[in-house]
Amino acid sequence: MAENGGGPVVLSTPAEMRAWRRAHPGELGFVPTMGYLHDGHLALVQRSKQENALTVVSIFVNPMQFGPGEDFERYPRDEARDLRLLAEAGVDAVYLPTPAVMYPPGYQTYVTVEEVTKRLEGAARPGHFRGVATVVLKLFNAVEPTRAYFGRKDAQQLRVIRRMVQDLDLGVEVVPCDIVREPDGLAMSSRNVYLSPEQRAAAPVVKRALDVAASRWAAGEREAEALRRAVAEVVAGEPLAALEYVSLADDVTLEELEGRVEGPALLSVVVRFGATRLLDNVELG
Ligand code: AMP
Repeated sequence: MAENGGGPVVLSTPAEMRAWRRAHPGELGFVPTMGYLHDGHLALVQRSKQENALTVVSIFVNPMQFGPGEDFERYPRDEARDLRLLAEAGVDAVYLPTPAVMYPPGYQTYVTVEEVTKRLEGAARPGHFRGVATVVLKLFNAVEPTRAYFGRKDAQQLRVIRRMVQDLDLGVEVVPCDIVREPDGLAMSSRNVYLSPEQRAAAPVVKRALDVAASRWAAGEREAEALRRAVAEVVAGEPLAALEYVSLADDVTLEELEGRVEGPALLSVVVRFGATRLLDNVELG
């Protein structure tokens, strides 16, 4: 355990985290992150502070949720800046374990959420949600939160966590938080630093494409394929952008919708700019 110059206490192991929690009973809001914090993360922190006596943020770049050849090694990190931002935000503790502490030699237990992980990011990134569900359960076990805050930006992740919490009787209230965007519409993401200046300038096409489909929906368009096509057409107009997928799916199960869409639906996209994948989505209905 390290005092952090008047800032939040920094806890490095599950045992330290649990001991701190035992000494700090009461309603606790928890914000899991991979660090390199931006205003999207800080909005989750603010919400937690409004709704709980205590707020804990974790920073852990979880190797288990990265596939071979993905960006685990080069994922951006800036612990000193993160701790400064969290001190300014007034969080009570930061949980900052290492991979060696989370996954010591002999580690062999995993959480698999089945159906809702099969499509979209689960299909594009095999093993990703197994890593996410496993680490979030481990974090919950150490932090013992009352509520946990997740961004709608990672729409499938939010649904996977909800499913796990319900299925495993975790008794944590999952609180979804709106997507925080740059002034030009680009969803904030730690990975936006990978974009070249030209790619960054082109990136708002992702939100523009979703907006076009959302306004068709508002005007009464209900054909799933027409809504997906509206997104694809806008993205196709940007030479630096490559559409990896566009999906219009059932809002809860994430099963792809065909024909006429009745209920609430999740319209989501992954657009590649070079090697960088940008995710975004909008909820319809
Ligand atoms: P990450 O550090 O990327 O794993 O994100 C940690 C949490 O912050 C997740 O619940 C994300 O969904 C959330 N988050 C990331 N970017 C944003 C954003 N632009 N707006 C709202 N929440 C976000």
